[in-house]
Amino acid sequence: MSITENIKKYREELGDQVTLVAISKTKPESDIIEAYNAGQRIFGENKIQEMTDKWESLPKDIQWHMVGHVQRNKVKYMAPFVKLIHAVDSLKLLKEINKEGKKNERVIDCLIQIKIAEEESKFGISADEAREILKSDAYSGFQHVKVTGLMGMATFTDDMEQVKKEFLKLKGVFDDLKKDFEGIEILSMGMSGDYKVAIECGSNMVRIGSSIFGER
Ligand SMILES: *Cc1c(COP(=O)(O)O)cnc(C)c1O
Repeated sequence: MSITENIKKYREELGDQVTLVAISKTKPESDIIEAYNAGQRIFGENKIQEMTDKWESLPKDIQWHMVGHVQRNKVKYMAPFVKLIHAVDSLKLLKEINKEGKKNERVIDCLIQIKIAEEESKFGISADEAREILKSDAYSGFQHVKVTGLMGMATFTDDMEQVKKEFLKLKGVFDDLKKDFEGIEILSMGMSGDYKVAIECGSNMVRIGSSIFGER
């Protein structure tokens, strides 16, 4: 199927309840334009340089999400335009985003990445660490960054029972934090291979790359 057909299919399938982030990393601008012309406005990238280059040359009503691991010294490049940073994993990083948000006179929305996978390689922090950050005086003082939800990645496996267990764990953490902290609304979980399970488990934002744009 073409990119246009894929976007239409996903938009129909997901409806209004689940936000589609089209993950365009490594893909050419022509692919993004095709998805844009099919109505897609939210795109995700995992490298700040690549996202910034694409932001500069593509239509300005695109909302850019950073889904990859973020190095503090690169926050400044995306601070003028990034719509949502999915993988925040420390108070230090929030502090840097707050600083750059202030310089740009904006509030930058972020998700905290919770580690749910068993694999060692996955980034993220524990539910307790997330809670510590949200209730800290430092975070309360930040006026240019706002945590609006959580993000997580399941173990890369065909064992959907395992994936489901991990997503349900994240949904539990999300529900707990949502009760105690204002503004926690987004639960970003699910990719091409596991988005159906993620939605069953309560996801309201999915990040889909290869099954829209083809293998990378
Ligand atoms: C690449 C990537 C995706 C999309 O993965 P696909 O399997 O291609 O859908 C989603 N989330 C993150 C964080 C990614 O880096």
